[in-house]
Amino acid sequence: MVATILVGMLCAHLLCFTVMFLLFSKRLPGKKMGMDLFALGNFLLGLAYVLQLAEGQPAWSAVSVLNHTLTLAAPVAYWLGAMRFFGQAVPVWRPMLAFSLAYATAQALVQWGLGPVARYAMLSGMSALLFLVMTLTVVFGVRTFAKDLHREMVFFALMIGGICVLNAIKFVKIITGGLDALQMDSSFQLAFYIYMSSLGTVLPPSIIWLVLRRLTDDLRNMAARDPMTQLLNRRGLSDALALHFNARHASPAYLLLLDIDHFKRINDTYGHQAGDAVLCHVAEVLRTTVRRGDLAGRIGGEEFVAICLDTDAAGILRLAQRLRAAIEAQAIDIADCDHALRLTATIGVSHHFTSAQSLEDAMQQADAALYRGKAGGRNRIESAQPARPDPAQPADQAVAQALQTAD
Ligand code: GH3
Ligand code: MG
Ligand code: MG
Repeated sequence: MVATILVGMLCAHLLCFTVMFLLFSKRLPGKKMGMDLFALGNFLLGLAYVLQLAEGQPAWSAVSVLNHTLTLAAPVAYWLGAMRFFGQAVPVWRPMLAFSLAYATAQALVQWGLGPVARYAMLSGMSALLFLVMTLTVVFGVRTFAKDLHREMVFFALMIGGICVLNAIKFVKIITGGLDALQMDSSFQLAFYIYMSSLGTVLPPSIIWLVLRRLTDDLRNMAARDPMTQLLNRRGLSDALALHFNARHASPAYLLLLDIDHFKRINDTYGHQAGDAVLCHVAEVLRTTVRRGDLAGRIGGEEFVAICLDTDAAGILRLAQRLRAAIEAQAIDIADCDHALRLTATIGVSHHFTSAQSLEDAMQQADAALYRGKAGGRNRIESAQPARPDPAQPADQAVAQALQTAD
């Protein structure tokens, strides 16, 4: 009786969350993040449990075959939903239909050849196998495709691993004890359905949490990055700097501003798309040239920024030299253009600064230096001039000295 009530509550829960997942997926028209398939999985599982209540005692009937098929089709739908959530474009209806038909046929063959016990054992065995593969995939995901959801993935692995273990035990019980092992009020069945209804309560909200986390992460990313190059924008730079300077022993930062020389000519001669390709190329050079932990950004049309968080005046100039040289050295292949493009860039370098609030000042210093670089003939590096000689700021002297040696 208790197990029957639990199954009934589990059905209601699964079907309620089916509706909720569907409502969510309707609010995500482009990228549904697997929510429609999680709804399908919930619906199939809910329906399977309704059929189980209708079936009563184990028996060979159309209802029973459908119940077993849906019980296994549901995790397949969850699996496909998870793949969609992680960005894989997987087909749904054909694999689901093929799987369901194959399993219904297998049931008929097993019932006919080996009898009812084998058919019920097959359901538990297949469930254990499916959930084992799912658990292993989730464990693999913790180290690979779902690194950002580490804790959530460990939680899911434990939960799904639990279903796998219970189904494996059920399989052994059916093989050794026959269909009596399926008595609804046996202590094992009670434990099984208590676990399943706990999962039915915990997993759907956890899926919603995953989706919300991804959505809010995406929003934060969109607000902090330039959509074309994926480099940080002004806001992203400022937030990352604030994070750096909030640390107790944060080192001073240096900023360099890089502006592509005669970029307008590239647009005018080869078109705006070629211009965009050049911007993406320079972004990639910047990304690969700065050190790990430094910040790379794009703050305007063809203006890029690098902020070095753990260096000195000579270090930032070395980086500027590397960048200037890399941009000059690498030819860019452009679609519909018979020759590769070459370009140069001018770079202005700021003084060191020690707070996120000083970002604008540093930008202005680097901009003024950049302006001098443009006036001085382009394809060069200029460092911010000291406002007035100040013996308390030895780093500025180092900039001047290092510049002399750098050029
Ligand atoms: P200078 O050497 O003095 O820097 O000359 P410049 O031609 O690079 O400088 P200018 O500021 O005159 O030109 C910048 C051009 O960048 C003008 C604008 O049309 C173009 N631009 C701005 N944003 C984008 C963009 O997103 N894509 C493309 N293709 N061009 C852009
Ligand atoms: Mg410019
Ligand atoms: Mg320019």
